[in-house]
Amino acid sequence: MNYIVLDLEWNQCPTGKEDELPGFPFEIIEIGAVKLDEDRNVIDEYSRTIRPQVYRRLHYKTKELLHMNIKELAHSKPFTAVVADFFAWCGDDFRICTWGTTDLLEIQRNMKFYKYANPLPYPLLYYDVQKLFSLCYEDGRSRKALSTAIEMLEIPEERPFHRALDDAAYTAEVFRRLDMDKVGSYLSVDYFRPPVNKEDEISLRFPEYSKFVSRMFATKEQALADKAVITPGCYRCRSLVWRNVRWFASGSKTYLCLVRCPRHGLVKGKLRIKKANDGKLFVVRTMKLTDDAGAKKIKEKKAEIAAKKKTKK
Ligand SMILES: [Zn+2]
Repeated sequence: MNYIVLDLEWNQCPTGKEDELPGFPFEIIEIGAVKLDEDRNVIDEYSRTIRPQVYRRLHYKTKELLHMNIKELAHSKPFTAVVADFFAWCGDDFRICTWGTTDLLEIQRNMKFYKYANPLPYPLLYYDVQKLFSLCYEDGRSRKALSTAIEMLEIPEERPFHRALDDAAYTAEVFRRLDMDKVGSYLSVDYFRPPVNKEDEISLRFPEYSKFVSRMFATKEQALADKAVITPGCYRCRSLVWRNVRWFASGSKTYLCLVRCPRHGLVKGKLRIKKANDGKLFVVRTMKLTDDAGAKKIKEKKAEIAAKKKTKK
C-alpha cells in the first residue's frame, strides 16, 4: 500500500462570508501531493492548480498566502477534471495522510458540491500527521503548525511554505520521521460521511482506547436512547463492565462515565455529539484506559457539575 500525503489550497468568497454560497465556504484551487511507498520512500509528486468557478476573484488572504494570481488559475482545468486526474494518480491501494483534519473535509465538500461521486474508501481511515507528530514528540493532545514541526525536527527549509506541493512535501518529511511502531495504529476516522445504517457503524480498537461512531439520529434524545450508543464496554475486551459513574453531561455536547473491567481495570468513557453536514447528529464514543487518579478526576468533575446545578436553582 502506498501513502498519499495530500495538501490543498483554497479560496473563499472575496467579498466576505455574508456573500458566500451556503455550504460552500472554500473553493479548492490547488491540489498538491506526494506519493510514498510502504517503506515511506518518496516515489512521486503531484501538483495541479484548479480554475475557480464559484469565487472568481481571490480573497485578499488567499493572495497574500499563496502568491498566486487569478490569471494563472484561469488557465487551469476545473475541479472535477483535476480531482479525477488526481485519484487516477493515487492508484488503487493507498492511505491518505494530511496535516490536520480539514483537507479531507474540504476535498469531500467540493466533490459533493460538484456532484462528483466520492471515490474515497468507506469508512475513511487516514493518518493525521499533525496528531501523530504530537503523539511521537509531544503530549498527544497539542497541535503544532507544520512550520513549527519542521523546525523542531530540523528538517531543511529549502522550499517556501503555503503552496500545496511544498506543504505536502514538508508533511511527508515529518511523516517519514515518525516512529510508526509507536503510532502506526493511531488511524483517524473521517466524519464527512457518518454512518447511515446500524450495519455501517464504526468500531475501532487502539492500544489504549476504543472508538465507536454511531449512525445518524434526528435528535440528541434519540441518540442518547440508543443502546449501542450508551452501553459502555471495555476498550479492550468489550466485555460487560461494572459502572462506577453513569453517563453525566460535562458540557452541552459531551458526556462522561467511568467503568471497571474485571480484567483490564478502570476505563473512562466519553460521548461526543457531533453534527453531520445535513444537520443530523451522530455520536463518537471513546473508551480509554485510566487509573485511580483519572477516576478521581471524573468523580470530582461530576460533583462539581452537580454543585453548580444546585447553586443555579
Ligand atoms: Zn476488559
